Amino acid sequence: MRIVIKVGTSTLAHSTGRLNIRRVDELVKVMSDLKNSGHEVILVSSGAIGMGAGKLSLKGKPSDIPTKQAAAAVGQCELMYTYDKLFSEYNHTVAQILLTGSDFSHTDRHANFTNTMMRLLELDVLPIINENDTVATDEISVGDNDTLSALVAESINADLLVLMSDIDGLYTADPHKDPSASLIPEIRELTPEILALGGGAGSSLGTGGMKTKLHAAEICTGSGTDMIITNGQNPNILYDIADGKSVGTRFIAKR
Ligand code: GLU
Repeated sequence: MRIVIKVGTSTLAHSTGRLNIRRVDELVKVMSDLKNSGHEVILVSSGAIGMGAGKLSLKGKPSDIPTKQAAAAVGQCELMYTYDKLFSEYNHTVAQILLTGSDFSHTDRHANFTNTMMRLLELDVLPIINENDTVATDEISVGDNDTLSALVAESINADLLVLMSDIDGLYTADPHKDPSASLIPEIRELTPEILALGGGAGSSLGTGGMKTKLHAAEICTGSGTDMIITNGQNPNILYDIADGKSVGTRFIAKR
């Protein structure tokens, strides 16, 4: 299987913004093992801005663009240094790819990206992708890594995209507010009712970015890639996913 795994800042970092070493360690170990068992693994990792803010001892997450971009420049280094070091322990080579939205809309750049990815996978490298936050402004950015990872999965014809989040999957209602909310294990069609669970006008479920996750599901399922939303707290869950077990919420691609 060609699997794209997206991890968010909440999975990678403590609330201080500093790296959650144990979590990242586990994540790298499982991904290395999946690769050893023959899967192609691609990582889309957030955390540049959060980690940069932590390293620069900024108070909270920066809101102005220059500070955000400066924090991303610092944090992206720390992120890649950490991944390179940890994956090396398991004998895997990583590559860094930084993209913005315009790399997907520009035909030549998109083709260059896809060709490079294919070659990296042939060379048995584990590509690690993030938005190029130091140059991306609102006009040209993808804006969030859920969408970015779906565009990546689409470009390289991945079999599966796994979004590792701070929630177990998509619920019928906000589980923080409604005790009767239940997890939806499988979605075959993105009906208006399902899309509304992402929080339309005035009805946000407060599930930490479910809207962008449903948008990612639209991109994936429309281009033949299944997508799973699962909790990033326990990276071992990736083994169950690779074994085809039911985990989180699975969006089945149109084939
Ligand atoms: N590219 C951002 C970062 O690395 C994260 C964007 C997102 O998580 O959606 O900090």
